[in-house]
Amino acid sequence: MSLVYNWQINRKMEYPHAEHHPERQFAFVFNLNRCIGCQTCTMACKSTWTFSKGQEYMWWNNVETKPYGGYPQSWDVKLLKMLDEADTSGKRAWNGDTFEGMTIFEAAQKHIGENSQRVLGYLPTDEEWRFPNIYEDSPIGPEGTKGNFHKEGVHLPSHKTWFFYLARICNHCTYPACLAACPRHAIYKRPEDGVVLVDQERCRGYRKCVEACPYKKAMYRPSTRVTEKCIACYPRLEGKDPETKGQPMETRCMAACIGQIRLQGLVQTNTDSGWAEDRYNPLYYLIKVAKVALPLYPQFGTEPNGYYIPPRWVPRAFLKQMFGPGVDHAIDTYMVPDRELLAVQQLFRKSNRIIFKYRIEEGPKVFETEIHGKPFTLYNDTIIAYDKAGEEIFRTQVEEPFYVRPDKHQNSI
Ligand code: SF4
Ligand code: SF4
Repeated sequence: MSLVYNWQINRKMEYPHAEHHPERQFAFVFNLNRCIGCQTCTMACKSTWTFSKGQEYMWWNNVETKPYGGYPQSWDVKLLKMLDEADTSGKRAWNGDTFEGMTIFEAAQKHIGENSQRVLGYLPTDEEWRFPNIYEDSPIGPEGTKGNFHKEGVHLPSHKTWFFYLARICNHCTYPACLAACPRHAIYKRPEDGVVLVDQERCRGYRKCVEACPYKKAMYRPSTRVTEKCIACYPRLEGKDPETKGQPMETRCMAACIGQIRLQGLVQTNTDSGWAEDRYNPLYYLIKVAKVALPLYPQFGTEPNGYYIPPRWVPRAFLKQMFGPGVDHAIDTYMVPDRELLAVQQLFRKSNRIIFKYRIEEGPKVFETEIHGKPFTLYNDTIIAYDKAGEEIFRTQVEEPFYVRPDKHQNSI
């Protein structure tokens, strides 16, 4: 075991390999306040990568309904329970920004024994993989019963009756549990973009990765007897799509998103210490500066590179278990955005090309008001997005353009 620094839990932790980072890291931000559960992302992925024999139950991208749904069923509830039972230290919790409980690597070493299992995990049953969105649209009610709508209705900031859609793909973790568990060294993290891949030639189908991945995003294919997983559409990241003339392009699931919840990028990293400061990269801004986007279950310890703007109507205790201690700040900031955050939000899904930098040109004040007792001013700023080569991809404004159709036009009857 080595000691590696995990910034999401604000401490060093034990991991089977030495700390090393790629030149850039594949990362994404999903705004859960916007997801409509349409599954367009799910089908974009399926029709590209997992439409063949033996892949029938394989959904590299899935959108599940929380709190009851999960693919595989109850994946997070099961692991949280296992961690709880394994960690007898009595800490198990966050102390400010520091997670003092045990990660899945530490729990395996201390309570199972390094030789038998490197990562605390479990192998889901075949039944548990059957549905990508079981309990679709089932809300939780006041007595914790499904579909029990509260008589008094709902109130912001948190609803008494609630559910939300959680879109998920492989997080291309900084410290992948799948990689740590593989006895064949068949899983590797690409040095150029941090994408985690399975070498299909080396894999022997032992399913140690399926057992170890806390997010259950490594999947066994019975027809070939090897593991497959999300490959981050790497030919698109490499700019091989003819449409982009060599410039990196977002993955299929990102590009297809109807709700405009997704923004994906390749963040700059230092090979010895992780994230490098890149102030005007939109992901760096959302995650490290505004801190509105948070990792999913950071306490597992893999340092996932998927980040979420938490849904504002969901009880905070549930969200804190899922996204860590930054939830209050993230939601408060999102609900009353400042000028820069409002402008950066306009970058979501305006292009399929990966945005490496943005610039804001200040525009006129449109109006001012109060939101939740805090002053809010809307400016019609222009935000300009640049690709890897520094070329402008597009520019857009905070206020959507307003068109008035003429009385007579071609489609008039
Ligand atoms: S989400 Fe799972 S499969 Fe993906 S890199 Fe992390 S541990 Fe591996
Ligand atoms: S396409 Fe976008 S809005 Fe639709 S389910 Fe997927 S993430 Fe949600």
